Amino acid sequence: MFDYVIVGAGFAGSVLAERLASQSGKKVLLLDKRNHIGGNAYDFYNEDGILIHKYGPHIFHTNSAEVFNYLSQFTKWREYEHRVLASVDDKLLPIPINLDTVNKLYNRNFTSEELAKYFEEVGEKKDEIRTSEDVVVSQIGRDLYEKFFRGYTRKQWDCDPSELDKMVTSRIPTRTNQDDRYFTDEFQFMPLLGYTRMFENMLNHPNIHIMLNTNFADVKDFFDYDQVIYTGPVDEYFDYCYGKLPYRSLCFEHTTLDMPQLQPVAVVNYPNSENFTRITEYKHLTGQEHTKTSITYEYPCWDGDPYYPVPKPENAELYQKYKAMTELLPNVHFVGRLGTYKYYNMDQVVAQALTLYKKLSGIDTLRDLAVPKANKTKVNGSAVPKIGSPVFKG
Ligand SMILES: Cc1cc2nc3c(=O)[nH]c(=O)nc-3n(C[C@H](O)[C@H](O)[C@H](O)COP(=O)(O)OP(=O)(O)OC[C@H]3O[C@@H](n4cnc5c(N)ncnc54)[C@H](O)[C@@H]3O)c2cc1C
Repeated sequence: MFDYVIVGAGFAGSVLAERLASQSGKKVLLLDKRNHIGGNAYDFYNEDGILIHKYGPHIFHTNSAEVFNYLSQFTKWREYEHRVLASVDDKLLPIPINLDTVNKLYNRNFTSEELAKYFEEVGEKKDEIRTSEDVVVSQIGRDLYEKFFRGYTRKQWDCDPSELDKMVTSRIPTRTNQDDRYFTDEFQFMPLLGYTRMFENMLNHPNIHIMLNTNFADVKDFFDYDQVIYTGPVDEYFDYCYGKLPYRSLCFEHTTLDMPQLQPVAVVNYPNSENFTRITEYKHLTGQEHTKTSITYEYPCWDGDPYYPVPKPENAELYQKYKAMTELLPNVHFVGRLGTYKYYNMDQVVAQALTLYKKLSGIDTLRDLAVPKANKTKVNGSAVPKIGSPVFKG
């Protein structure tokens, strides 16, 4: 007899399993159809002994001290600021586009003020910003859009940016300074010993029973339980009764090269050439030292595991139909990227799971981990409470 069956051992399912077991004393059965915990953040040592991410690069970044503090109970961190280059016109140029990108691309010598003026001149005036194309061409003009965004987006989504919701390209800023960090969040770290080790620490509790290689649909009638937390695809739960919600998938080609380093940064994007979108080199992320280096090519495709909900109005409408069905099931809770058909980063999924935990238990982990202003301590240049302060119960 379990209090909860949790479907999916990614961030959403694992946070809820940890909270329900360790804070509320509930008995939890955690299922995953894959042969490992960690969901898409799973990492492992390959046959050459290099730590790689099975489902592509996962970089932790957040502005939430509460989320960072919560996860800090289960891992130490390695400081890491992500940088990405794009291969354009035979040059490797910073992305997001910044002052150096434009100066190096066009052999110019703009100052920040001159670049801001340039963007104003080349940006196309739009009455309404509706699509991903509108966002970019209105900010930086058509040439930079064609060189950095159009081809990449077409590969990634198999459609033109003019057909995609504005949120896809709105996520990527444009800068007139030389800041070449991909993210500007306050907390940018990688789990020191990897994500999988962090998940193992979260789930190491006698009240959590884990079953891998197990599809919920195959076993749901064999156990007694009160409630279900479902982090798999919401349309699959309802047997696709309104039709399939489309997801974009990726094919990952992992390989190891007999050289210590291939590229200057962890990720190089290929917006225009090649069939893959990007190459990731893991040693930049993990800091591992090794005579060889492991890399991953990413090929977007339609068949395969569901990764990215496709942000189009008709899909949002279809999701609303499934959402209405979820509301008729008070003992089944849908959460996570697949359960709510929404593109979330890891920290957002952690916050979403902690919010659901509050609803189920009345215990507000995010509030408990909030930092009283007077108690703020500088750690690695960021304001966080001291590890070992009363908020860390683990
Ligand atoms: C290529 C890629 C790169 C990313 N990079 C970043 C990044 O750099 N930074 C960042 O913050 N976020 C990143 N993300 C997003 C991140 O992966 C998600 O935010 C996070 O994994 C979501 O966690 P989740 O628990 O909702 O889903 P998942 O991690 O997908 O976990 C869901 C789990 O449910 C299991 N499952 C599904 N259906 C069933 C079933 N019927 N029975 C049993 N088990 C089932 C699945 O096997 C899966 O393990 C990236 C995502 C991708 C695809």
